[in-house]
Amino acid sequence: MTDFVDTFGASLAAVVSAAGRVVSQSAAARELSAKALIAAQGDIAGARRDLDASAAVIAGQIALRSRPEAGHAGLAQREGFRTPEALVQHATGSTAREAMTLVRVGAMIHDSTANETGAPTYPVAEPWLVPVGLAVASGTLSVAAAEAIRGGLGGPNEDVSIDALRDAAATLVRLGPTLNADQMFRRAREARDDLDEAGIAIRERERRELRSLRRWRKPDGMTRYIWELDPESAALVDGIYDQLTSLRRGGPRMVDKAEQKRAEAVERDPRTTDQLASDGFLDLLTIAVGTVTGTAVGISTGTDPRQLIGIRNPAVRVLVSAEHLAAGNLAGRTGHGRIEGHPDPISIETVERIACTSGIIPIHFDTSGQVLDVGREQRLFTRRQRIGLAARDGGCRWPECQRPPGWTEAHHVDHWQRDHGETSIDNGILLCRHHHLLLHDNHWEIAKRGAEYWLIPPPGIDPDQTARPMPSKSPALHDLLDSRSA
Ligand SMILES: [Zn+2]
Ligand SMILES: [Zn+2]
Repeated sequence: MTDFVDTFGASLAAVVSAAGRVVSQSAAARELSAKALIAAQGDIAGARRDLDASAAVIAGQIALRSRPEAGHAGLAQREGFRTPEALVQHATGSTAREAMTLVRVGAMIHDSTANETGAPTYPVAEPWLVPVGLAVASGTLSVAAAEAIRGGLGGPNEDVSIDALRDAAATLVRLGPTLNADQMFRRAREARDDLDEAGIAIRERERRELRSLRRWRKPDGMTRYIWELDPESAALVDGIYDQLTSLRRGGPRMVDKAEQKRAEAVERDPRTTDQLASDGFLDLLTIAVGTVTGTAVGISTGTDPRQLIGIRNPAVRVLVSAEHLAAGNLAGRTGHGRIEGHPDPISIETVERIACTSGIIPIHFDTSGQVLDVGREQRLFTRRQRIGLAARDGGCRWPECQRPPGWTEAHHVDHWQRDHGETSIDNGILLCRHHHLLLHDNHWEIAKRGAEYWLIPPPGIDPDQTARPMPSKSPALHDLLDSRSA
């Protein structure tokens, strides 16, 4: 054992002095050929991978000796740190995140190699990561990529077994040398989504729960808003942001004359891009406030919103295969879609809701993946139909909801895909975004009886599924009906 420790000490000393020698010869870099430079960078990256793996092994050992059951006798506690991560951070001068990664990957390597050698071990916490730990230990996978796989794959649940996760981890490890850590994280997330269709809806809901807009008054008199958005909301806001700033950020140039003039004006504008974005959003809000209250507000610039964001209206575009959309209507609720420009999948419920309000454009592909034909937009309520719906419904028709028509989306009572419901005033009903979301996600139904609409709760909420009235919120309609019956 002492031999082993001596060898380790000698190897470590050799690494440290060799690395020091390379730095002290940095002047030589100027003399190297381009080829040699690139090769050197690659060699150093390889050595660094090994060194990172060694650091993770040490961090894992520190964590092992600091286990909670060791109490104050634990290594980190004895050294005056609350956690092994804090001790590692202190020893390395790294960020908390880096220290946490080292400890986690160290545990992974320990679990993987202990399993192989049969050495005494603590229970393997994440057995599906064994192939990952082995790859780091053998120098074929970086510590950062290992952590990316761990975070992207997540843990087992009812639908995803440990074995399935281990297979996915092994596949990702084989991709290891070709991907950087960010790409690896995306791949791992995709692998997880493939294993866990049910989880897509859960993660989507979790993200939506995290949405927030917080206000912070700063001591210098400025106010800061911190806005956390789920992917679907972000896609909408991103669309607006991109249009407000794209001319500055080298976005696509318009051939249209008016657009050309706008582009020139933006170029001459002395404001920074951040200032342009801030002013643009403020203008949009000002217009919205004017629309909602019917009054012009003091700071109104009188800007036409179409002018402000260019001719292409911002829209969230969702891509889904016809197979997934059709399968989503069966009892199993499988399948998913994707928001254009965003890597994460979205649930079939969300796809249906967006299709319900925004219509659908069929795109036909041949078997090689080439587009054959882009169809016409289908199933979108016309402006005239929306005016009729607003007059009839007077706002969101969900019981007790007070949202006015301008805040609503038109829902198809007979879902247009599932029930082949048509896009008519009869088959349309106004719901605010919140209630539209609730209806599709939790599978509420609306029944039409004569001119009346009734809300049917899902069995999970009301086992009897007693229909609830959805009266019109339009005072004008009530006046009209009263005068007729009088
Ligand atoms: Zn709908
Ligand atoms: Zn509502």
